[in-house]
Amino acid sequence: MTKPLQLMQYIPDELQSKITPSQITNYVQRVKKRNYNQNNTPFGMNIFNLKNWISINSFLPDSDNKDMCFVVDHFIDPLTINHSIPVFRIFVSTRRLLSYAILSDMWQVDATYKLNWQGYPLFPIGVTDMSKQFHPIGWALTSYETTEDFEFVLRALKHGISKTMEKNFMPKFIMGDAAEAISKAVTNFNPHLKRAMCWYHMINRVDVHLSKVRDPNLKTSFRKDIEYIQNSGSEMKFFYLTNLLEKKYLGIEGEDVKVFLKYFISHWREKLPGWYEGYAQFHPSTNNGLESTNRWIKANQFREKLPLNEFLSVFLSLPTKWSAERKIEGRKNWNSQPNIELSKWTEACQWSQKVQDFNTSILFTEDGVKRIHSSNMEKIDIELLKNFVDIWSVNCFDTYKSVKNSFFSLTVVGENVSCDCISFKKNYICSHSLGTKIILKLVTAPAEAWAIPLGQKRKPGRPKKAGPALSLI
Ligand SMILES: [Zn+2]
Repeated sequence: MTKPLQLMQYIPDELQSKITPSQITNYVQRVKKRNYNQNNTPFGMNIFNLKNWISINSFLPDSDNKDMCFVVDHFIDPLTINHSIPVFRIFVSTRRLLSYAILSDMWQVDATYKLNWQGYPLFPIGVTDMSKQFHPIGWALTSYETTEDFEFVLRALKHGISKTMEKNFMPKFIMGDAAEAISKAVTNFNPHLKRAMCWYHMINRVDVHLSKVRDPNLKTSFRKDIEYIQNSGSEMKFFYLTNLLEKKYLGIEGEDVKVFLKYFISHWREKLPGWYEGYAQFHPSTNNGLESTNRWIKANQFREKLPLNEFLSVFLSLPTKWSAERKIEGRKNWNSQPNIELSKWTEACQWSQKVQDFNTSILFTEDGVKRIHSSNMEKIDIELLKNFVDIWSVNCFDTYKSVKNSFFSLTVVGENVSCDCISFKKNYICSHSLGTKIILKLVTAPAEAWAIPLGQKRKPGRPKKAGPALSLI
């Protein structure tokens, strides 16, 4: 008997008004959990059964069996048997998924909970390609969410790569939320690795602290300036701008402003600075891809908390599914180029027609050929250009912002064109970079991209078949 109303009848009358049904439910759950742990039975089976399950599923599949999920690595604390809470870690993947892990030098990791009765964490790990498609590599089930658990996931993946491909691969970046355990695990795994910070988690945390700033205008201004700094394209720019931001708000009265500024600088500049775009170029700045996979898993695979045998079967079957989806040529395959939709081609064609010689300045620099455009398509101001070259001498945040917003700069190196606008940093493509490629004849736009008159936007959906040739251009 575990239902709150049934149990209520055993509680003395004088106490009944003081106890709510949800308190009873919580108590029953606590007792259940304690009993599971005392019985030393993860998922309702004992540690010997778990060891047995691991050994059955640890065989490395043949090299042509790319989609079979297996236990890549595991750890069971030898002292576990005498502990009330078993310490274990299991990482599963497939040969095909492991081969995706070496295609990106940023691994993304997260923890997700409450998928089984005991609430043990699951750690999915994955990579994102240039079309911004997230690819899960595998996942770990562990008894805790500690530094050792995160470290196990990283080591297990590295081990899986060397086991299946005989490669000694090391990523450059690990992306996660702000958990201290992730930071420590990354350093333990390899002190040279860079610890990228999910921008979405970062700004959520900042908002909590920002809510204590009383003046609403100041709050908005702080938020906008932090968003602006997030677009920094390089480490130098990031530190330069955070210094200017510090200077801007240091002179403002109020203890609330001082407290927030101190928090922002110590936490997000000194301790965890990996949240700006240039920290890991051509990599995502948020873990959104990974998190939407987690949401999908929770909504579709674990709608109810499953008992052990069913849970373990899903634990093995999902990587098999992710792997098999990548077997055939299609949307789920790895993309090493950004996706260019027809609407983007149209924007680029229109932009390339609007740009004129007089509002383009060309500079030859060590980094490549710079093509600088004024933002409003007017004649480019030579003084503005001087500011651009000399931008580091601007020592006021707002002046820097207004000067920088008045132009944007493209860099051409061989056939590669990059832009310093926000869209390029986030999507690895923008109408300016694509438009410049069209101007320089490095690419040919599809004919239907020219079929929209200048100034008009393409309607969503598939375009109509191209009209007569004369209506093109
Ligand atoms: Zn751009």
